Amino acid sequence: MSLARAPATLAELHEAGLYRRRRVCDGVGHERVVDGRRCVVFCDNGYLGLAEHPAVADAFVAAAKRYGVGSGGSHLVSGHTPEHHALEEELAAFVGRPRALLFSSGYLANLGIVAALARRGETVVEDRLNHASLLDAAAVAGAKLVRYRHADAGAADERLGATGARLLVTDGVFSMDGDLAPLAGLAAVAARRNTTLVVDDAHGFGVLGDGGRGSLERLELGANEVPVLMATLGKALGSFGAFVAGDEALIETLIQRARSYIYTTAPPAAVAAATRAALRLLSSEAWRRSRVAELVDRFRSGAQQLGLALAPSETPIQPVVLGDARAAVEASEELLQAGFLVTAIRPPTVPAGTARLRVTLSAAHTEEQVDALLDALGRAVPAR
Ligand SMILES: *Cc1c(COP(=O)(O)O)cnc(C)c1O
Repeated sequence: MSLARAPATLAELHEAGLYRRRRVCDGVGHERVVDGRRCVVFCDNGYLGLAEHPAVADAFVAAAKRYGVGSGGSHLVSGHTPEHHALEEELAAFVGRPRALLFSSGYLANLGIVAALARRGETVVEDRLNHASLLDAAAVAGAKLVRYRHADAGAADERLGATGARLLVTDGVFSMDGDLAPLAGLAAVAARRNTTLVVDDAHGFGVLGDGGRGSLERLELGANEVPVLMATLGKALGSFGAFVAGDEALIETLIQRARSYIYTTAPPAAVAAATRAALRLLSSEAWRRSRVAELVDRFRSGAQQLGLALAPSETPIQPVVLGDARAAVEASEELLQAGFLVTAIRPPTVPAGTARLRVTLSAAHTEEQVDALLDALGRAVPAR
């Protein structure tokens, strides 16, 4: 797009209800001041309330004093500190794999995985609703992207058969819908087709499974079924960055070949230290997972009584699909007036005609807040 066309393009986005704008959110946790108005946040990814935990902030501050604020270089040059190294070992132990590798963000981790495992011109098979970073990763790798019908292992099998692809990639929990991928089915298909299954568990990690190990724990799958496991640290863990876990060969391949690992500054040591503190809380405070699960149940039964269209999701991601982008924006505006931040998610983030309010719940919410949100939704959203 040339810059000369920008004003017309921006006007079109406005017209279609697809214009995106940022809000200034002040404060920490789920009660914040948004554009000057006090409100309860029901759309962030802090499912366990760890971002605002004092122990996490203390670890961050102590490490910033010891190592400075920036890391000063990439992992391969001078940026890999004892905090990063210990965090990698702790993450590997937590998910039960030989090794883990930190990336500066989930977006970069996904670019790195696909670029390291698929060669230029090869085919990568992905769920149609995979996170944008996984879809972009195929393009960056110069690979051919072939998508299959959402959460359909049979459709994935057909695509693998037709293309001979060696890489099958899926979200564990779909970020805009909250549903789980059929990982057992996909793993069986991948094994039969001699294909590597990659799972991005950004939204399952920390939340699902008795131990919080994510979608794989929830579905009782291990490294044999899913050799490449990626998860982000900026969601349930309340920190920042991402990791990939797997065997020695995988991790060494990423270190040698993932350009998004090699050519970017390592996350600050303070972020790694804060993440270690959050991981300890994740392991020791199982109540956070039960708590958010209780609130999910409460939200779902309340929404059902209101006649809202709910998605088949057992996770803290509970989208209320409205369809039309403008309707979703209006409902979101009305919720904000009532003191709740729930952003409207519109195309191209979600398919056309499925604009939604992406409600997310957290262990940090109270029952009263959930009930008040339901009240406000009852007024802002027309029943089905
Ligand atoms: C958030 C997210 C990412 C990107 O992670 P960042 O650390 O925010 O870059 C990747 N995949 C999924 C499924 C996500 O939800």
